[in-house]
Amino acid sequence: MGSNRRAPADARTDAGADDFGAALPARLTFTADIERSPGDPTGTRHLAATTALLDLLDEAGARGTFFILGEVADSAPWLVCDIAARGHEIASHNQTHRPLAALSPATLREEAHRARATLQDLSGQAVQGFRAPYFSLTPATEWAADTLLETGHAYSSSVIPARAVLHGHPAAPRHPFLWPGGLLELPAPIAQLGPIGMPILGGMYLRYLPAWDFRRFARRLEGPLAWTYCHPYDIDAGAPFHRCPGLGLLSSLFLWANRGTTARRLRAMLAGRSSLPLAERLEEARNIAGGLRDIVPGPHRDANAPPDPAFC
Ligand SMILES: [Zn+2]
Repeated sequence: MGSNRRAPADARTDAGADDFGAALPARLTFTADIERSPGDPTGTRHLAATTALLDLLDEAGARGTFFILGEVADSAPWLVCDIAARGHEIASHNQTHRPLAALSPATLREEAHRARATLQDLSGQAVQGFRAPYFSLTPATEWAADTLLETGHAYSSSVIPARAVLHGHPAAPRHPFLWPGGLLELPAPIAQLGPIGMPILGGMYLRYLPAWDFRRFARRLEGPLAWTYCHPYDIDAGAPFHRCPGLGLLSSLFLWANRGTTARRLRAMLAGRSSLPLAERLEEARNIAGGLRDIVPGPHRDANAPPDPAFC
């Protein structure tokens, strides 16, 4: 992985990356969503990029949680076996990469069941976790929590508890909580800056935030159970540019550029910290959620209502 051609420029623009994670908590769980790379005509770049992520974790002595798309598991079953053999938790990113709002409850039930069964068969692990594509568990799709419970999942990691560009649930708690049906939710850690809440520990934030800003925001991180998130393509610095289907030129450029910083920053964030899979932190999460049952969001909440301070 990686591109020697771009590396010097990345180093110049990422001054301070060595202590990038200085303000982060001592326990930080690595998570990744394993899916195909956007705009990749070969449909295979995510495979080598995932192996590079696994190597990075081995070097850091870290174990994490991999939310794997069922379609990826179907086409590359060896990848699931490799991730599991290297000590990581296998979790589900559903069968297809569509937001929950695009699915009916029946379709989600079928897809979630199928992906979980495939991942369990391949890994030999009891798959407990689910992450909705695009973090798309929002006020409009809260029904999904019961479907995930019915299909055997113990926890979800599908909520951005803030206003977000694509999907967000501003009224959701910023700590582990239980949905009314009993499913445990582990929401994305949020850094609040004025009126803006940002899930800074992954994705485009990790790629584009200047190191100094990241450290400043990290001191404002909310959520007692912190986890990072990324995709294989976030570290695929050698990927050629391709315009993504359905996206404009600028959006495609934004998705493609600045990938060289992510691996370096992940190394800095994991250095000297304990990273355990989410499945090994569920008791800790349940203890937090169990003590705060009274502030679980429910279907009575208005999707368009402003954030309730009691939930933030
Ligand atoms: Zn995804």
